[in-house]
Amino acid sequence: MVTAGKPQPLDAWEMAVSQVDHVAKLMNLDPNIKEVLSHCKRELIVNFPVKMDDGSTKVFTGFRIQHNDVRGPCKGGIRYSPGVYKGEVMALAMWMTWKCAVVGIPYGGAKGGVICNPKEMSRGELERMTRRFASEISIIIGPEKDIPAPDVYTNPQVMAWIMDTFSMTRGYSVPGVVTGKPLAIGGSEGRNDATAMGCYFVIEEACKKLGMEIKGSTAVVQGYGNAGNIAARILHDKGAKVIAVSDSRGGIMNPDGLDPRDVLAHKEKTGSVVGYPGSKPVTNAEILEIPCDILIPAALEGVITAENAGNIKTKIIAEAANGPTTPEADAILFKNGVLVLPDILANAGGVTVSYFEWVQDLMSLFWDAPEINTKLNRIMTTAFDNVYKIAQQYKCNMREAAYILAIGRVAEAYQLRGIYP
Ligand code: GLU
Repeated sequence: MVTAGKPQPLDAWEMAVSQVDHVAKLMNLDPNIKEVLSHCKRELIVNFPVKMDDGSTKVFTGFRIQHNDVRGPCKGGIRYSPGVYKGEVMALAMWMTWKCAVVGIPYGGAKGGVICNPKEMSRGELERMTRRFASEISIIIGPEKDIPAPDVYTNPQVMAWIMDTFSMTRGYSVPGVVTGKPLAIGGSEGRNDATAMGCYFVIEEACKKLGMEIKGSTAVVQGYGNAGNIAARILHDKGAKVIAVSDSRGGIMNPDGLDPRDVLAHKEKTGSVVGYPGSKPVTNAEILEIPCDILIPAALEGVITAENAGNIKTKIIAEAANGPTTPEADAILFKNGVLVLPDILANAGGVTVSYFEWVQDLMSLFWDAPEINTKLNRIMTTAFDNVYKIAQQYKCNMREAAYILAIGRVAEAYQLRGIYP
């Protein structure tokens, strides 16, 4: 797992660029376009002071990195984490470009991050840090330029502070500057569940292809944040047995099945899923190797590697996290017949409903939850079908196919627009 600010053996950016190199060969990509796509367009690093509760001033470092905007404004979340580093944010920005292209929404990719430990900060400190960071990056964000959203350890409240800070500098409310806001200030129905819901829709399609039923299947979920806990709940409600889950402090297992709502209540009370009554403890490494039908990595990047990929005993891996599988691990999983639903497809439901939110904000006209879910289902199912067809045509895995689709769409936009001047 990529932790504590230290790039692990394979840096996330190196991994992201190597994925492009690999697919460029498969699809005979124009080397000039590959050169452009192997860089981030704009990289902003900010070091900014925040008054802490004890009266001291602390300087935080944050990033907002725009990989590409050839298909539309940049889009992507902001993460708060002690371990976030520039190469990681660059990779995450690039993955957003591909993700938006796979599902065909008119955005490019960006990502942001602040090096901090939100678990050790008061609400006041978090608000002041968020507002100052929003002000620092306000020179490059905006509804027609770059639209942030929640990511690891940020939430609707953080988005509300960013929206308010940006609006104060303009002198009027600008709801379209961020997505993932609370409903009361221009958020969208369904945004909170969107990543997990989109992930579920593609799992459903994958099950049809494999002749598998969700009802009665077993699922394991690594990570119990917004994506992981809701994915566990949806699978449970659809009749799957969730046999193990984890968070940053460790994991729990019960072969008879866990109740995801009850586990969430335990986490809210104690700070972790660990110690949930009637469960057996497992580590975050062990959880990935538990035999199951559906495995959902929903935490951080780089957790499925050449070392553990051969021990994974599942039929489907649905990547709710960004970048959980290294390229070497991909090859092993493909050889072993595991169907990997890649991040840029499997977790694209979040940014898809972010797109709906932005459109609704720009129109000042709002849709109800059933309408959002129907639209999300249509986009996810179409994206799955497109990727699946390419995988069959090229006899390649679903990640390669998703990249062929995404890079092809971005390359087409470049060819049409040309290189300025
Ligand atoms: N952070 C989410 C992601 O990685 C959502 C991004 C967004 O909604 O803009 O896809």
